[in-house]
Amino acid sequence: DEVTPEKPAKAPLVENEVEISSRDRVVFPDSGQTKGELADYYRAVAGIMLPFAARRPVSLVRCPQGRAKKCFFQKHDSGGFGDAVRHVPIAEKDGGTEDYLYVEDARGILQCVQMGTIEFHGWGSRTSDVEAPDRMIFDLDPDEGLDFDAVKTAAQDIRARLADIGLVSFAMLSGGKGVHVVVPLTTGHDWAAHKDFARRFAEALSVAEPDRFVATMSKAKRKGRIFIDWLRNQRGSTAVLPYSARARSGAPVAAPIGWNELKNIDNAHRWTIGDADELLKRASGKTLAGWGFADQALPDI
Ligand code: ATP
Ligand code: MN
Ligand code: MN
Repeated sequence: DEVTPEKPAKAPLVENEVEISSRDRVVFPDSGQTKGELADYYRAVAGIMLPFAARRPVSLVRCPQGRAKKCFFQKHDSGGFGDAVRHVPIAEKDGGTEDYLYVEDARGILQCVQMGTIEFHGWGSRTSDVEAPDRMIFDLDPDEGLDFDAVKTAAQDIRARLADIGLVSFAMLSGGKGVHVVVPLTTGHDWAAHKDFARRFAEALSVAEPDRFVATMSKAKRKGRIFIDWLRNQRGSTAVLPYSARARSGAPVAAPIGWNELKNIDNAHRWTIGDADELLKRASGKTLAGWGFADQALPDI
């Protein structure tokens, strides 16, 4: 007698009440992960991502047909988002106001994923007062061909220089090529002071060690050096958020890392969207306890 095999249980369509369509669509062609797997990743890490991602204006990298096709940065609502993708009005330079996007819960994150979002980038300030930055980021961008050891050493040097002026900092693998040095700050200064501090800090490093560092974006000047991208620290700029997936080969994620651990890491894409369990375990472990948080004001120097 022929036995009809039981149909496998249908993959769930509902993730925290957010319906994910086309779960089987391949989003990362070279490693094979699908939109459903990406949604599963974000559902799993939402709890550890939201402390950094919630209630900040965000820019999304959307790739509705997968990362190999057209992707675009999006900072305003173009329609189609769910109700948990919220709006915050922000004053524009020309005197008008524009609505920017933000999320505050797992539903918001998943509704973005439903719309083809792979990456989440955040402002350095919160929706409660977008004019009050609370996070400085030094984004280390190595020249092509420079090995990751140079990036790690640079990050440690920046950490030490920040410590010299009383600032605690944290390291994050970008998921791409570099490391971000993250400096949490209490609010109380404006964007002009924030940007000015970041610029002066980066320029001081490039002056002290011109063979290793540059503080200007010029590709020509970067030859064999690391660009300390301080431009993440101006009003309206964004940086990739902790635990965001990246629209890059292998589906890597931006991952917080302890300073001591960093010494044993070989590249900036060590963790991927397949590693949610490990990332969750790490987030509740000793090494990352308190990562990204410090009660410190921007020094007056
Ligand atoms: P990598 O380690 O490979 O440099 P990264 O995330 O640091 O990864 P960068 O190219 O250095 O990538 O960009 C730094 C940040 O600048 C990004 O995380 C993003 O928030 C922002 N950014 C980059 N390109 C754009 C763009 N076209 N539009 C808006 N923001 C951008
Ligand atoms: Mn970078
Ligand atoms: Mn950069």
